Amino acid sequence: MANLIGLRIRDAAVTAVGVLCMAAAAVGYAANSPPTPAGWCKRLAERLPGISASSCQRSALTPSGGISLQGFPILARHFPPAKGVKDGYRPVRILLLGGIHGDELTASAIVFQWMQWMQMAPAQDFYWSVIPVVNPDGLLASRPKRVNAHGVDLNRNFPTPGWQKDAPRYWARATGSDPRRFPGTAPLSEPETRWINQEMESFRPQVIISVHAPFGVLDFDGPAPTPHHFGRLIFNRVGVYPGSLGNYSGVHKNVPVITIELPNAQTMPSDAEVKRIWLDMLNWIQHNVT
Ligand SMILES: [Zn+2]
Repeated sequence: MANLIGLRIRDAAVTAVGVLCMAAAAVGYAANSPPTPAGWCKRLAERLPGISASSCQRSALTPSGGISLQGFPILARHFPPAKGVKDGYRPVRILLLGGIHGDELTASAIVFQWMQWMQMAPAQDFYWSVIPVVNPDGLLASRPKRVNAHGVDLNRNFPTPGWQKDAPRYWARATGSDPRRFPGTAPLSEPETRWINQEMESFRPQVIISVHAPFGVLDFDGPAPTPHHFGRLIFNRVGVYPGSLGNYSGVHKNVPVITIELPNAQTMPSDAEVKRIWLDMLNWIQHNVT
């Protein structure tokens, strides 16, 4: 944050335009980054179906150090296993990501719901890193949007081999330059993807779960047996794209990625289904990730 502010001050000293930019950035910053957990949770709860500000606060997320373009902290929490990690015990490490697309509200809300069960069996056998809102600027925009504040689809911004050539070409040819799928001007050009990439390097997950909506299926990339179903979600290939997380991690880094596509982006599945997906997912991890 200090760097950002320093940068803004330096810019402002250079030109009058810089002063204007600094003012605009400061407005965005003040509007999007309330300084306390209560403030962050109030903003998030206004958007997330079924999540109250108090249940958000009980999840005890803290700023990870990552900050969105508009200054909202990327909130995270690590849940070590109940047994700890000493004495040669090596629990499976799981990175759980919600809401990389800001308009998929249920994809963040379900991660908040699952966080209630992190410290119970069977989740407490694993070591979790949980980030329920990867794209806070998209979620908190006046109208929630898929992309971040730069208009970048974060799930096309990961550094897959050949990105410089393949990602812009795919965007132009296959999507007709759809602004909702703009991959950015360079891989990891965005603070949100840079932070996720850094967390992948430091936490070293053995499996990544990324929650989306609204296709109502399960997708999978990487070196492990394919899951058949979690709850009512059945395996069905969504696709592998230049710059997507499944492509980057599952195909190129050999860390399996489960992509969960909930059936509706605004309306949560039933409580029973939320639990079934959770239990089937943990059961699959227990038997298939080593
Ligand atoms: Zn999505």
